[in-house]
This record gives sequence, C-alpha cells and structure tokens, in this order.
Amino acid sequence: MSLYHRDMNIYGDSGNILTVARRAGLYGFAPSVHYYDPGGVWPDRVDLVLGGGGQDQGQGRIMEDLAARGPVLHALADDGTPMLMICGLYQLFGDYFQTSAGDRLEGIGIIGAHTVGRDRRMIGNLVDHTDGFGDVIGYENHSGQTYLDDGVRPLGTVDAQGCGNNGEDRTEGARVGNVIGTYMHGSLLPKNPAVADFLIRAAVDRRYGRGAFAQQAASLPEENRREIADLDDLASRAG
Ligand code: GLN
Repeated sequence: MSLYHRDMNIYGDSGNILTVARRAGLYGFAPSVHYYDPGGVWPDRVDLVLGGGGQDQGQGRIMEDLAARGPVLHALADDGTPMLMICGLYQLFGDYFQTSAGDRLEGIGIIGAHTVGRDRRMIGNLVDHTDGFGDVIGYENHSGQTYLDDGVRPLGTVDAQGCGNNGEDRTEGARVGNVIGTYMHGSLLPKNPAVADFLIRAAVDRRYGRGAFAQQAASLPEENRREIADLDDLASRAG
C-alpha cells in the first residue's frame, strides 16, 4: 500500500513502489498496489506499507486522517507488517514535528522520536552505514531535525557524507521491528535492493509463513534470476 500517495511523494519516492512491485513480481508474486489518500478506502488486507516525503503543508493535510488511521497502523506494525517511511512520513511516524513556522504536527508514535524544524535545510547526498543492509545510499532534503528516544535503534550512522537525523548525533533513520524510517530519498529502493528484499521477505513470510520467501527465491526460473541480478547490478552503479 502506498500511504498518502498524493500528498507525500516527492524526490522520486514513488520509485520505491515500482521497485517493490517489480521485484515481488520477479520473485513470483502478483502484488496489487493500493494507493491510499485521506478519506479513502482502507484495504482489507495490507502486506506492506510504503510512505514518502512531503512539504510541511502536505504533512498538515494528511495529519488528521493519519491520526484516525493511527490505531490500524499501530496494529499492523505490532503484527510485523513491513513498512518504509521516508522523510515527511518518517517524521509523522514519530511523536510530533514542530515545524520551523511554529506549527505542531502530531505524529502517531510508532517510532519513538520527535522532530523540530530549523531554518537551514539539510540537503545533499547521504551514505548511511547500516548493520542489516551495508551502506545505504540516498539523498536528503529536510528542515526537520529528528531526535530518537533512548533505546530506539537508528537505521544506521552517517559520517562525512550527509546530515542524517539531525546533523548532530550522526544517527540516520530508525528501525522498530519491521518498520523502517529514514531521510533517504533517491529513490531509496531502486538503489538499495537489500532494503527492498528485506521488505518483500518480511511481507511474504508474514503472510505465508516463516521461510516462504527463501523457498520461493530458491526455485525461481533462470530468467527471473537473471533479471534480479541485472537490477542489482544497475543499483550497484547508481549515483
Ligand atoms: N517537510 C519536512 C521537512 O522539511 C519533510 C521534507 C521531506 O519529506 N523531504 O523536514
């Protein structure tokens, strides 16, 4: 499901949806993408949730609906549903975003974090050194500085390349169970297939049982295997 596709989808974040759909297809699944916008119909079954970034105004527009959908999103997250939230939705998956204009946008608190806007934006390429996925590459553009609560695990750390969560403590993003929050636009998933496959694997195993993804991946036709390898090769050349 693409969460708030209309308002929260900038700097190529919709590439994440295309990548998940394409790779899941190559792994032999037939995903159907549901585009959810405020006031829309919530699908009966949700296997994976992708959310993008947005302007402060866009975040303001979805805030009320997000508050209403907060309980169902919490329940899905608690049940292990994989989710990837980029920038603006990452901020609103935290507790709140106090914008540089002084507005307080309430989040839904799936990720223990809060964000405070500042006048100078953090813009540029980003390299995130992560435990689970190696070096993740992307692009950041945000005014909000995000601070993780004690004990919340960052997605990774930044050094010379990029600001990450706040430009101060070198953390980038957050991981809470199968929920990933990050400032990485780019799009993220075409350039970082390990993250895409993590999300697909988690979705498949949650739905069909532990080990289901590995079993499926081990029995792929040669041409699918080759195409996945080609996509991985393209990603390794991504700038
Ligand atoms: N509006 C938010 C900020 O500036 C998020 C921006 C984004 O999603 N790129 O911090």
